[in-house]
This record gives sequence, structure tokens and C-alpha cells, in this order.
Amino acid sequence: MRVVLLGPPGAGKGTQAQIIAGHLGAPAISTGDIFRANVSGKTELGQKAKTFMDAGDLVPDEITVAMVKDRLAEPDAKAGFLLDGFPRTIAQAEQLRASLAELGNGLDRVLELVVDEDELVRRLSSRRMLVDGEWVQRSDDEPETVRHRLQVYREQTAPLSGFYDGEGLLARIDAMGSVEEVTARALEALGRSPQAGPQAGE
Ligand code: ADP
Repeated sequence: MRVVLLGPPGAGKGTQAQIIAGHLGAPAISTGDIFRANVSGKTELGQKAKTFMDAGDLVPDEITVAMVKDRLAEPDAKAGFLLDGFPRTIAQAEQLRASLAELGNGLDRVLELVVDEDELVRRLSSRRMLVDGEWVQRSDDEPETVRHRLQVYREQTAPLSGFYDGEGLLARIDAMGSVEEVTARALEALGRSPQAGPQAGE
């Protein structure tokens, strides 16, 4: 299955992506994680992306699209994938559609995680990640930057909801509630039972 996970910062995309990908037996591909790994590894790509990320802005489409194309060409993504954090602009969505079409493929489903904005701000400002044994705040999780990221989401990414609805691919998932509840709703929208593990042949 080829699935896109859509939703604002703080909606729980990263957490759900890992769990759902496990059920699908497909890799979870997070553009944010790939960028962060490149920033800590001080690669050329990381250096290009860092200024945009620290400001809470999107990394330019040409950099992001090339990176995702490379990742989707890896053998583990051939039979399916779950994209987390990509596409984030209509232009990215169109490029994704075109590169899948070249291979005779297309997306099967787009899941949009829906959370109200007060809850997003609350989750993001208390979020910490483990780096070298210490809990640290992500540099783009500071309140000013969080507000900016939410604005970028509203302006550039939220229109994807209508775009994918128009293609008949969109399922909106209520992402308030426990991790397990949200997973169950997402799996139901994918036609999977929460009890079943990865299914063979996909
Ligand atoms: P969140 O969903 O919490 O905002 P991510 O980890 O998905 O965080 O992304 C962190 C940052 O990485 C974004 O603010 C942006 O700068 C960059 N980024 C990730 N994915 C994309 C993308 N598809 N297009 C442009 N920039 C991206």
C-alpha cells in the first residue's frame, strides 16, 4: 500500500507513522527525520536544509523532492510506503503523483490527522526528544517557531486536504485521544484490523 500521512506539526504523525507502517509491513519515510539526520551528520543536504528548518520554514521543493525521489527508489519502498511529512505543498504533491505515475503506480490513501490548534501548541511546547541520553527540546519547537510552523501549515500544506479529497483519496482521522485510539481509527480507514500484523504479499 502507498499511503501519505498528512497533518499539522504536533498531530502525532511520527508516532502513528511508525505504528501504521509496522501493520502495513512497509517503511515509514519521514522527510523531517531524513533532514534531521543530515543536519546532525553535517552533510551538504543538511547544511542546505538547516536554516529553513530552524526558522520553521519549508525546505525548498527542489531539494525536498529530489531527496524523496531517491528514497522512494530504494528497494524497500518498491512494494509500498508510508510517507510522513511529504508532500507538504501542492507542487510536491503533483511531483509525487508524476513520479509514481512514471512507474505505473499511484497513492492508495491519504490519512489526515485532525487535532485542534490549542492541543497542538500544548503538545509541541512540552515535546522533548532523546539525544545522546539527554532529553532536549527540538530547536524548532520553541513557542515563536511553533506558531510560525502552524502558519506555514495553514498556508502551504492545509490545501492538500482539498487536493486529495478531489482525487477521492482522503480520509480524515480524529487524532484527539490516546495513541491506540488514533491508530485504530487510522487502520480502519485503511481497511485493516488492529489485531492483524503485516499482511503478506504487499
Ligand atoms: P513537524 O511535522 O513536527 O513540523 P517534521 O519533522 O515533519 O516536523 O519537519 C521538520 C522540518 O523539516 C519542517 O519544519 C521543514 O523545515 C522540514 N521539512 C520536512 N518535510 C518537508 C517537506 N516535505 N518540504 C519542505 N520542508 C520539509
